[in-house]
Amino acid sequence: MADEYDYDLFTIGAGSGGVRASRVSAAHGAKVAIAEEHRIGGTCVIRGCVPKKMLVYGAQFAEDLEDAQKFGWTVGETKFDWKVLRDNVFEDVDRINGAYTNTLETHDVKIFHEKARLTGPHEITLDSGKVVTAKHILIATGATPHVPECPGHELGFTSNEAFHLDELPKRILIAGGGYIANEFAGIFNEFGTHVTIINRSDKILRGYDESLRDRLLQISMMKGIEFKFHAEFRGIEKTDEGCLRVSMTNHDDIEVDAVMFATGRVPHTKDLGLEDVGIEMGEKGEIKVDRFSKTNIDHIYAVGDCTDRVQLTPVAIREGQAFADTVFGNDPTSVSYDHIPSAVFSHPPMAGVGMTEGEAKNQLGSVKVYLSDFKAMKNVVAGRNERSLYKMICDGDSGRIVGLHMIGPEAPEIMQAAAIAVKAGLTKKDFDATVALHPTMAEELVLMR
Ligand code: NDP
Repeated sequence: MADEYDYDLFTIGAGSGGVRASRVSAAHGAKVAIAEEHRIGGTCVIRGCVPKKMLVYGAQFAEDLEDAQKFGWTVGETKFDWKVLRDNVFEDVDRINGAYTNTLETHDVKIFHEKARLTGPHEITLDSGKVVTAKHILIATGATPHVPECPGHELGFTSNEAFHLDELPKRILIAGGGYIANEFAGIFNEFGTHVTIINRSDKILRGYDESLRDRLLQISMMKGIEFKFHAEFRGIEKTDEGCLRVSMTNHDDIEVDAVMFATGRVPHTKDLGLEDVGIEMGEKGEIKVDRFSKTNIDHIYAVGDCTDRVQLTPVAIREGQAFADTVFGNDPTSVSYDHIPSAVFSHPPMAGVGMTEGEAKNQLGSVKVYLSDFKAMKNVVAGRNERSLYKMICDGDSGRIVGLHMIGPEAPEIMQAAAIAVKAGLTKKDFDATVALHPTMAEELVLMR
């Protein structure tokens, strides 16, 4: 295929989307190269979902060790060593990084461990100066944390650096009220750090169902996390004692030992030569693509967070797969974006699929809502005053489930299975026809009144 060009496909960015697209394109017979300026695996594997989930597991032991005593165990003196967890997490990240690299190599994908830029419609120039050409180009460069422009912002860090801390701060301020803020608030809080979240609006986790957001807020506050709303970041100053003084709108200054920015992620599309070849981009720098992930230039495609469609790893992977099947597999495929389940790995975690109650009421008119507000059995014995909440939203006419939302232990694990039923268009009646699996938390899904 690649007579005229060095490669059939050149992918920029070896994260979830780029690796899947490159591997499958190669399996379809394409001659493929990929460039990555950091480590193979991208945000999810190296500094996102995977190491974060391990920290979530590590953090949960704080409560489990406490609860164990209510279940009859004598627990001696406990002590948490951050460096042990951090280094064990790094070890596993290395393993997965190796597995991703291996996958590419076994498919004969040529890897360039350096930055690449477009220098012509079919031309890519690598940092080393090497120039290569490709018939098709795929941009899969992901997104980077957005840091508000404010004095002293360089004194803070983002989720990129959070995994590398030398020691845990005694007090941390987290700016933002989204996924990353709430997940890391839970992690740091369980490790004994005092956490303050500040957010510019009066809501956490925009996009999730209101009842669940309220429940998470209430439980987080009960666990000792502080929240300040309508608080726009003004600046950070180092004090003589070496602490950080943070100023914000509508609230007094706060003194902390560390500041973390979790104020959204922006498409990583700067300094790639995209404008020079005429690729159309939106206001946030996102690459505009059609439903087959094709840009305005016929042979250039983009997948994953750099297109700012849905910033989730499994979506980037699907887009990468669809691209490869479309361009090299002779099977035009587009990704379906409805009913994508998502989860926040907070303490406790929450998960949702489909419409929130507010969205359903706006869009459908007639809506029926079912709730289950219960204490997980384990929390009863543990004496933990923490209630779970499941909410099912149905179309009032057909009974079809249009939204399902849960907060409580293992909610994301339960949601993955339940999302299949919601995506398949099942009704509340279908759920009720299934016998409960007792005693579980998930049985609430078929017992809702
Ligand atoms: P989110 O979009 O979840 O939340 C961003 C938060 O920052 C919001 O509370 C928002 O406020 C606030 N904010 C945004 N811009 C500014 C600004 N200029 N100044 C001050 N505050 C601001 O972003 P995250 O950074 O938490 O995560 C990025 C993305 O990564 C997520 O959207 C998600 O797609 C993905 N992700 C997914 C995870 C998962 O699946 N479990 C985990 C982590 C990340 P407000 O809403 O009040 O306007």
